[in-house]
Amino acid sequence: MMNALDFIYPEYEVVRDAAKCVSCRVCERECANGATVFDAKSGLLLTDDSKCVNCQRCVAMCPVMAIKVIKSGNGFRANGNWSRSTICEVYRQASTGGVLLSSMGNPHKYPVYWDRILINASQVTNPPIDPLREPMETRVFLGGRGSGVERDKNGRLKCSLPPHLDLSIPMLFSAMSYWSISYNAHEALAGAAEELGTFYNTGEGGLHENFYRYGKNTIVQVASGRFGVHGEYLNAGAAIEIKMGQGAKPGIGGHLPGSKMAGDIARTRMVPEGSSAISPAPHHDIYSIEDLRQLVYSLKEATGYKKPVIIKVAAVHNIAAIASGIARTGADVIAIDGFRGGTGAAPTRIRDNAGIPIELALAAVDGQLRREGIRGNISIIAGGSIRSSADVIKAIALGADAVYVATAAMLALGCHLCRSCQLGLCSWGIATQRPDLVKRLSAEEGRRRLVNLFSAWNREIKEMMGAMGINSIEALRGNRLMLRGVGMSSKELEILGIRHAGE
Ligand code: SF4
Ligand code: SF4
Repeated sequence: MMNALDFIYPEYEVVRDAAKCVSCRVCERECANGATVFDAKSGLLLTDDSKCVNCQRCVAMCPVMAIKVIKSGNGFRANGNWSRSTICEVYRQASTGGVLLSSMGNPHKYPVYWDRILINASQVTNPPIDPLREPMETRVFLGGRGSGVERDKNGRLKCSLPPHLDLSIPMLFSAMSYWSISYNAHEALAGAAEELGTFYNTGEGGLHENFYRYGKNTIVQVASGRFGVHGEYLNAGAAIEIKMGQGAKPGIGGHLPGSKMAGDIARTRMVPEGSSAISPAPHHDIYSIEDLRQLVYSLKEATGYKKPVIIKVAAVHNIAAIASGIARTGADVIAIDGFRGGTGAAPTRIRDNAGIPIELALAAVDGQLRREGIRGNISIIAGGSIRSSADVIKAIALGADAVYVATAAMLALGCHLCRSCQLGLCSWGIATQRPDLVKRLSAEEGRRRLVNLFSAWNREIKEMMGAMGINSIEALRGNRLMLRGVGMSSKELEILGIRHAGE
């Protein structure tokens, strides 16, 4: 008998229009969560709303648009302090005694500063540039620029710059490990990066042997668990990223249970089948900037000083000081990940409460490095919920050289943001390893959609640059005069380093 104390009314209801339904049972086949089942006795399709995660797969696949998923009509008595989700979380924890887990990015209503920043447009004295007639440069080089022009004793220019990444567009796909996303999703990202002239990132799961061929468009990651890290791996990519932190779960490691460690996932991670893979929260050999510098140079040594090294950190309270230290480690790029960044699984409380918005972190870091005169030592990649080309433009004007994009890329692959990746039952074939679900995502179709997305963004970036009277992304980098804020306090404007609209 059901315990009334454990009962939570489902958050969503699957509503089927009997007048339209042709009983084709597509919804039953498509639901990875078993929310729709066919009852042979009654000949009816029955739904168990408690299993529905609102992934919208059945809605999209129903041939006659007979299904919709709606927010449940059942609600608690209205309470400005205790929302439905807060109450239900207490019930769940009282029932299980467990830590709440979730995925994707922080869904709470913190300020999204991108939406409070407006870009400039040229009028009269500084005319706009027509991107259809004039060349617009969106190519970006990531890596240290040196502090100025240097000449040898004969007066010849010294041209020995540190290694660089050459991007045709100012956007990269951010780290997602093989396991947290499927083989087909990885292949789509790798293929799209190759076609677009940019980079995707292995995450900390190693590099599947089939993807070595995408090496020149791959960033290989070294994280605290060192899974899948060996000499061939380090040399296979175009750059190496040391992951110190992640925006969605700063200060938190990861855990891949032994039950899921099998086949090519175990082989790629170099972990015995059936063993759990625990990524510690810290790197156990890094407790200072000096330790980090040692790892940077170990990786450079291992790769003949030919690959740029990126250090990825979560945006946290004292990020400007942390970045200042990182700029002195010999790393070529710092990647900062804001607290709205996505993840395959994270403790809910950490995801929703730790870290700071990328907009403030980015502005603080760029400002600090400029004040210290070391901005040229290192490039900045900003990530953590870049949702559109407008966010890209604003990030670059706040000081980024390029941006990392993950959630928007997942949306392009079919993700419907049900925030249930941690269950491993993604109906869209992305955050799953179940073979029947993985094959729902065509790597080729995914590649095409990712190329479309970034190509469209790049066209829009050129249009916005043209409207600002700028014809090169270089001229936009850190150009805060192009930005104005609306509805912000003077402290927020001060941190962002921009003026209020009307000024
Ligand atoms: S979980 Fe997805 S496929 Fe299943 S009923 Fe809900 S929306 Fe439909
Ligand atoms: S990747 Fe899949 S499981 Fe994760 S949020 Fe998107 S649709 Fe849901």
